[in-house]
Amino acid sequence: MPKIYFDHVTTTPTRTEVAQEMWPYFTEIFGNPGSFHSTGRQAYSAIEAARAKVAQAIGAKPAEIVFTSGGTEAINMAIKGIARANKKKGNHIITCAIEHHASLNSCKALAKEGFEVTVLPVDANGMVSAADVARAITDQTILVNIMHANNEVGTIQPIEEIARITKEKGVFFHTDACQTVGRLPINVEEMGIDLLSLSGHKIYGPKGVGALYIRKGVKWQPLFNGGAQERLRRSGTENVPGIVGLGVALELATVEMEKEMARMADLRDRLVEGLLSKIKRTKLTGHPTNRLPNHVSLLIEFIEGESQLLSLDAKGIAASTGSACTSGSLEPSHVLLAMGIPHEQAHGSLVLSLGRDNQLEDVEYFLTVFPEIVERLRSISPLDEDVELPVGTTCGSCHSFRSCRDSTGS
Ligand code: PLP
Repeated sequence: MPKIYFDHVTTTPTRTEVAQEMWPYFTEIFGNPGSFHSTGRQAYSAIEAARAKVAQAIGAKPAEIVFTSGGTEAINMAIKGIARANKKKGNHIITCAIEHHASLNSCKALAKEGFEVTVLPVDANGMVSAADVARAITDQTILVNIMHANNEVGTIQPIEEIARITKEKGVFFHTDACQTVGRLPINVEEMGIDLLSLSGHKIYGPKGVGALYIRKGVKWQPLFNGGAQERLRRSGTENVPGIVGLGVALELATVEMEKEMARMADLRDRLVEGLLSKIKRTKLTGHPTNRLPNHVSLLIEFIEGESQLLSLDAKGIAASTGSACTSGSLEPSHVLLAMGIPHEQAHGSLVLSLGRDNQLEDVEYFLTVFPEIVERLRSISPLDEDVELPVGTTCGSCHSFRSCRDSTGS
């Protein structure tokens, strides 16, 4: 049975070349980058070389890059760092309903500290309106936080237009670019971005490392109290192997981006075309064209996302779903709900995200196997209008009780 990984928005494997570059920093060059001896100095130089690579990839200056433990930390640092440093200027933050929880929960935490948060809606394609951003800005607004592309539905936001507005109004703009760095061209200077978060493990780098770009001159304060690492912006002994890995991974992704993303987009379009033509009651979610080149997200009516994933896994295919049919909550994705998708449809979400290991054969295999899975699951699904299941019996699709479905009001 083939092994196919279609879950690259969730994480990617660390490339061999990247792991090889990292290895010496676990072993012989293990010194603390803050130490004066030669192994420490070598580690320090490696961090600075990685900083230059990350800066180069996004059109920043090396001094504007701060290494973090990943995208989540970078996002927390950006949002809380701007809010707390600028609270004398204003207490209003603007974000949108389909942000990653790192953003949404940072904003929620700030609301408890007394900040006002406006959560903008998105349209049916998951798109934020730049005009809505402009209208929401008040004389109290200090930060606009809108992601570059969404991980669940792949929609790419009009961040350049938003950045033009924030610049005009004197408001800082942060974007979560965890899904786009290394996949879409980014130049923070040209795009007018003040702060940008990125993550290593989305681009074939290691897990547990990321970076925050903070434009020179932006008033911001650090999250952690501690030592003077990262020019006082992020305390704690640096993850030297991880940082080295992030630098190499991003350098490779940037070099290969154009060719690789064109190849991805072709595979993506074949998948979408094949799925929509072979399986009835199936819908593409997210923007039809303005979407990540490696991203396919669908609603497969009448089958819970989890049962799709289990059946796919049994066929050697790894994918993901936006819904979370866990702990009996049956709570579907906040992203799909914000796009106006009804609960019962949102439960049938499937996300297929492509990567450098995927080939045309993988798409063909998927298109052979998946329609059969859908047919089988639908034939036993109580959600399918044609199938009768007595109340109180176990749902063959999501393995929950039918009464759970009723309790969601769907
Ligand atoms: N933002 C987006 C859009 C993501 O997809 C992710 C990863 O799931 C994150 C932030 C968080 O990144 P990390 O896993 O490095 O903390």
